[in-house]
Amino acid sequence: MTFKVLTAEIYHETNTFSRHPTDEQAFRDRYFLTGAEAITQRRDANTELAGFLDVGRAHGWEVEHVLSSAAGPSGRVTRAAFDWLCEPLIAAAKPGNFDGILLGLHGAMVPDFREDGEGELLRRLRAVVGQAVPIAITLDPHANVSRQMCELADIIVAFKTYPHVDMREIGRQAGEILQRTMAGEIKPRTISARRPMLEEVNGGRTDIGPMLERLASARAYEAQADVFAVSINGGFASADIAEVGPTVLVTGQGDFDAHQAFAETIADDIWDRRHEVLNEYVSVETAAAVAVAYKSDDGPLVIADYADNPGGGGYGDSTNLLKAMLDAGVTDACFGPMVDGEAAAALHGSAVGERVEIALGGKTDARFGGGPLELNVEIVALSDGHFVGDGPMIGGLPGNFGPSAVLRVHGIEILVVTIAQQMLDLQQFRAFGIDPAAKRVVALKSMQHFRAAFAQIAGKIIVCDSGALCTPRYERMPYRNVPRPIFPLDRE
Ligand SMILES: [Zn+2]
Repeated sequence: MTFKVLTAEIYHETNTFSRHPTDEQAFRDRYFLTGAEAITQRRDANTELAGFLDVGRAHGWEVEHVLSSAAGPSGRVTRAAFDWLCEPLIAAAKPGNFDGILLGLHGAMVPDFREDGEGELLRRLRAVVGQAVPIAITLDPHANVSRQMCELADIIVAFKTYPHVDMREIGRQAGEILQRTMAGEIKPRTISARRPMLEEVNGGRTDIGPMLERLASARAYEAQADVFAVSINGGFASADIAEVGPTVLVTGQGDFDAHQAFAETIADDIWDRRHEVLNEYVSVETAAAVAVAYKSDDGPLVIADYADNPGGGGYGDSTNLLKAMLDAGVTDACFGPMVDGEAAAALHGSAVGERVEIALGGKTDARFGGGPLELNVEIVALSDGHFVGDGPMIGGLPGNFGPSAVLRVHGIEILVVTIAQQMLDLQQFRAFGIDPAAKRVVALKSMQHFRAAFAQIAGKIIVCDSGALCTPRYERMPYRNVPRPIFPLDRE
């Protein structure tokens, strides 16, 4: 029999400390693609939708894809934007029309009228389709998974990689579980285990460290007949909400006492190893000093500004690292992005080759990462900001920085952009005429995703804390809603 499946992708990771509310325009800036358009753009890339469609083809589904949309991580999603995103999905989900629903969600969306965006989306969906229609969702492992999400979605599968490089594969896994459920072979539900922490101590990174052992145990447990997915979420710490933090999920059937006990052992390990921090967060001065002394025989030194990661809701306009590099006289370097739409617009009023005086960056909140830098710069390039990725995360997918410019100041080429994006693909430099592999020093804003593409060209990687909004020093943030005590705000 042909199953009819309703699909959509809706993503937002909400940094509740950000001053920038997330509105409809923020989703349009990243992408807002309706059905056919979304399929055309995303079916051949590393996306959940591509995985959903792979499974749909294999089993002869009739797929109705409503929309794919994401905004860059930023502040709470406005009610108007949330309603606007949900409406087409709710309208399409007429009772009796579909055998299953398959959604690609992030899992850390916080609207401005409640804490649990995905829970609210699922509640609205269940109100229309009832309890009988199976709902499968995929999540980013930086999800803060609520109890409501686990109650309302039968099937939950999170990515198993950070940097995230398995979106399509996880889309397939969720789709296959949904297929078996629709066929009446299995009857899954999802349970969770959680610990009082803001996040797994290494943000869930899976290139090295204890998460690799946990994932190996999860894979082994998934091999059992009544277990369909085990998801280990690092959580997202920049959300001041009650249900923040790491979770372990088991989507299965049968012996839920055993499933819960297994999930608790993984959660115990996350808790017990909460002091095993893998990154050393150096100061911006130390990073600049390392850069000055660096010999680039094995490839460039990559300096990641962890704290100003636009991929975690950082403003991307922190100037502390750039200032330290300029003060130290670092040369043969590139730096990106500096998110400053005002500066980019002003630069577009001049021509390539001109020298201009500008105030760069630091305009959103100087307490987090430093104030504007007064610079005399040479304009090297001007661009509309469009690029197409070619790395493991966004290969083949278009991206957009908005009006952009490349500036040269002493020995540093600076990519100035309008729309915030973290650096996770070499094309984010190359499309603008900067070849990071040919530089001695590459400074970029990202916590971990940069490793997917930049580890391949790097001779050495260091991570710094510029004091921007995603600083790992959580005691700087005004948490009010997280349950206390919680690690690391309350150390023991
Ligand atoms: Zn993530």
